[in-house]
Amino acid sequence: MNGDGVVDITILGAGPTGLAAAYYAGHRDASVRIVESLEQIGGQVAATYPEKHVYDVAGFPKILGQRLVDMCAEQGLQYGADVRLGEEAKTLERVSEDGEELLALSTNEANTYLSRAMIITAGHGAFEPRKLAVERIDEWQGRGLHYVVKEKAQFAGKRCVIVGGGDSALDWTLGLQDTADLPITLVHRRDRFRALETSLNEARRLEAEGAVRILTPHEVREVHGDGHMEAVTIENTATGEAERYGCEALITLLGFVSHLGSIAEWDLELEGKRQIKIDPMTCATSLPGVYAAGDVAGYPGKITLITIGMGEAAIAANNAIALIRGEKVQPKYSTD
Ligand SMILES: Cc1cc2nc3c(=O)[nH]c(=O)nc-3n(C[C@H](O)[C@H](O)[C@H](O)COP(=O)(O)OP(=O)(O)OC[C@H]3O[C@@H](n4cnc5c(N)ncnc54)[C@H](O)[C@@H]3O)c2cc1C
Repeated sequence: MNGDGVVDITILGAGPTGLAAAYYAGHRDASVRIVESLEQIGGQVAATYPEKHVYDVAGFPKILGQRLVDMCAEQGLQYGADVRLGEEAKTLERVSEDGEELLALSTNEANTYLSRAMIITAGHGAFEPRKLAVERIDEWQGRGLHYVVKEKAQFAGKRCVIVGGGDSALDWTLGLQDTADLPITLVHRRDRFRALETSLNEARRLEAEGAVRILTPHEVREVHGDGHMEAVTIENTATGEAERYGCEALITLLGFVSHLGSIAEWDLELEGKRQIKIDPMTCATSLPGVYAAGDVAGYPGKITLITIGMGEAAIAANNAIALIRGEKVQPKYSTD
């Protein structure tokens, strides 16, 4: 069995909740292994909005997403958690070793990790971007098609077409004003946007100045280029007229489709289709020794915010430790 020894707690997912769980477990002297399917830590924050500001995490009036998760990692990994990146959790079984009942988590890399308890902090599960209905669209990835804006510098001086009607599309239409070639073209298939009114008002103001071109109800129909993207054909769906626009970067911000994947097959009681049901008092799932926290954990009235996930991480870690040690739940203050 590949996997390197038994730890107290396996944490599944290295988003802000998983990193907080690693902190609370490490602080209580529990050994931790984190398994993360992406090649990076930071969860949704690092993957989808690293350069946006977050305003509602206590203690940080305004902080860049990437900076926030970097600080979560500094705090969460300080006790030496074993971090396994690029491995997707596939199966969960119960095994017995030297008379001890353990959880055995196997990954797509053929590793099996043993632990006394587990905290699932898998967010929305393995997520992938919702894609444009353009034939062979995937072939443009790495050649001008982007599903997230990771670094603004990638778009410096480029003619950008942004597709979407939500906050991300509006945020980046505004956020790339100081980086991209202007005007930035914003394409949405409906006339009404779902984004914040203030963002839309600002985009309309920039449109009047010639820095933004808003096309609604329009859809991207074709992508053109030789090697790298050079243009896209955009159709006005009200009139059927199509026009070709120069485009070196097509940024489609249509949201993500996510699914719990293999986790949904572990006989865990679910809350709806997307969340694992937990008892909010303990963060325990329906499987003994398995806890869940953050976006993946559900109960009536659940609010999916970073702050809530961090609070649940503290509850889950302290309850997991109490279970492993046969103690009462007794958090310890961190002040020294
Ligand atoms: C655009 C946007 C803006 C947001 N703004 C805010 C905000 O301002 N304030 C706020 O509080 N919240 C905000 N949120 C929500 C916030 O990002 C989430 O609540 C938070 O990321 C949840 O953290 P998490 O650790 O529970 O899950 P995630 O961040 O989703 O992390 C889960 C991790 O688990 C991994 N994983 C999943 N399945 C597996 C598997 N099978 N094997 C291995 N690894 C797996 C994933 O790859 C991922 O890295 C925003 C979200 C979005 C999309």
